Amino acid sequence: MALPHDADTVYTRGMKVEHPSVCPLDCPDTCSLTVTVEDERIVSIRGSRANPYTAGVLCAKVPEAYPGFVHGEGRLKTPLRRVGAKGEGRFERISWAQALDIVHERFTDVMAAHGPQAILPLNYAGPHGMLAGGSMDLRFFHRLGASLLDRRPLCGGIRTEAWVGTFGPVPGIKPEQAEHARLIIAWGSNVTWSNLHFVPIINRARRAGAKLVIVDTRRTKIAEQADLHIALRPGTDVVLAWAMAAELERQGGLDRAFIERHVQGFDEYMALARRFTPADAARICGVDERDVRELADWYRTLSPAVITVGNGLERNRNGGSGIRAVFALPALAGKFGVVGGGLINGASFAFPKTPQRLARPDFVPKGTRTLNIIDVGRHLTDGALAPPLKALFIYNHNPLVVHPDQNRLRRGLAREDLFVVGADVVMTDSLAYADVVLPACSHFEHPDLFAAYGTHWLQRAAPVIPPQGEALPNTEIFRRLAARFGFTDPAFRASDAELMDDALDGGDVRMGGKRPSAIPLDHATPMMVGGEDAMLFQNVFPKTASGKVELASSYLEGKYGARLPRWKELRSSYPLTLISPASDQRITSTFGGLHVGDGPPPLEMHPADARARGLRDGARVRVWNDLGEVRLPLRITQVIPRGVVCSLKGAWMATTDNGQTVSALCPADHADISEGACYNDARVEVAAL
Ligand code: SF4
Repeated sequence: MALPHDADTVYTRGMKVEHPSVCPLDCPDTCSLTVTVEDERIVSIRGSRANPYTAGVLCAKVPEAYPGFVHGEGRLKTPLRRVGAKGEGRFERISWAQALDIVHERFTDVMAAHGPQAILPLNYAGPHGMLAGGSMDLRFFHRLGASLLDRRPLCGGIRTEAWVGTFGPVPGIKPEQAEHARLIIAWGSNVTWSNLHFVPIINRARRAGAKLVIVDTRRTKIAEQADLHIALRPGTDVVLAWAMAAELERQGGLDRAFIERHVQGFDEYMALARRFTPADAARICGVDERDVRELADWYRTLSPAVITVGNGLERNRNGGSGIRAVFALPALAGKFGVVGGGLINGASFAFPKTPQRLARPDFVPKGTRTLNIIDVGRHLTDGALAPPLKALFIYNHNPLVVHPDQNRLRRGLAREDLFVVGADVVMTDSLAYADVVLPACSHFEHPDLFAAYGTHWLQRAAPVIPPQGEALPNTEIFRRLAARFGFTDPAFRASDAELMDDALDGGDVRMGGKRPSAIPLDHATPMMVGGEDAMLFQNVFPKTASGKVELASSYLEGKYGARLPRWKELRSSYPLTLISPASDQRITSTFGGLHVGDGPPPLEMHPADARARGLRDGARVRVWNDLGEVRLPLRITQVIPRGVVCSLKGAWMATTDNGQTVSALCPADHADISEGACYNDARVEVAAL
């Protein structure tokens, strides 16, 4: 079968050619790229100005790692069949026809014995393209009748649900507007590593006199430069935001007219907030009381004031409450409706997406169950699920490295009665447990559409090199599988261009009369509202049930019994809180295979905690709790407060000598909304090895 290459692409031999492309990684910025190709190999990648937001600047991760990722030794180029023990990583080469036959035969057996829901697609956010990320694959699994996977709880789902519960499915302001702010608060967001292009915006605003506040447990690079850094204890954000709300009220900083007109649940909400004075917040959050007062004072007096919220504050049992309490602040203080004021969030609602057409949920048999991605390890091991999981299809994901409670998931994947198919660009820790491995194209080898989750720019990319070896784009893998399973609906024969046109509403005014499959490759398309940038309470208004900002949320009450935010203290016999934020070398676990030789990221610990345990800088330590044990080099540093230790997420298992990484120490608990992951609720002890 011929591959559906994009008509825009002409491959060249023997000459260097530059192509436009887009970074597909799990990052809010979605940079536009210029890729230099020679003899059908990527030789360099640099930023392009096609996307004005990213403006030619890339993080270091992509230009350094991507050529090796696409062309390096770890690249999967043929289908494989397991010949060693699960996890051992010994495979033999097979043909695509054999691979599809095995998958068909094993899935058919599972369905005959247990029904189709015994099969689960285990996919996440490896590539962020709309086609590779969830198009023909979902059509296939929906038609198969496989269990549905709710993957949002792993990351970002809490923030999205908090947003929808408070404002509805509408976009906040685009990050560029923050340039006009006089106060910028980055809450739970290490912008230097995870939202790089926000840094120049901060710098421009500061040159014009703006103040910068960073709320983050770790003293990041941007925190060192800030006017105020509040290093709060993980999981206490809701208390800080409540105390700010109550202090704003005491200082006369509430916008009563705005609240009267646009806010629902003010009295119930403030009854909770008033329980916390700045002194209470200081004690509970581990911060200075004067800082809480100063933050409230700045927020009251400086306008426009903008808050950007990262994923750092959602990764705990109070995650949804923390984010909701932060989202409440601009509504209480009347910060919306001016350029540079309000909240930077909800960018994914800026695009006219049409998931009903792209993923075809109408194919899903009635009554099909949905499983939370965080619970997969438990479902594979406790025997309570009926029907049990008997087959997994892992793609766009490296769950062993990424999921909490790593050791439990590993025990599940090692089950001999579990048939595992894996598709990826490179061999991963998780694919080592697969029975059949399918080689997937990198995004440089297929066309795709990119609707960013942190900006309001839409981009399209064409392939810049042909598929490597026998690799196939995700869309083609699932087209072939659908054909092998005898699915005859025309939806399973849709070309990539047709899938793009199904992904977004081409008739929406934001598309400017262009079909999604025909938007330009060399410049990004802005998503605007009536020809202007989206701005809450100017040209965008809440789409909640009440039409107001819901501080007491009917949506969250109905879904999670969480009408209002709440705060629950976590008690543990382990004395230290382990946080595992994003790395500057990997995007979650992507590129982790290129850094195995670097060893594991160190464990950062405050000098007082190290002294109390007799530990010296550079020593190898064991970090443990009831779930596992990780061995890491120790870095004693004041960037981390007392009582907290930190090691960056996403390192692959081969970086440690016992094959466990920080995910092994994270509980698979559920947060207050979205049943989201609670990585930062890991409690541990540390000792010398
Ligand atoms: S990971 Fe983010 S900052 Fe880095 S190139 Fe990709 S989109 Fe840009």
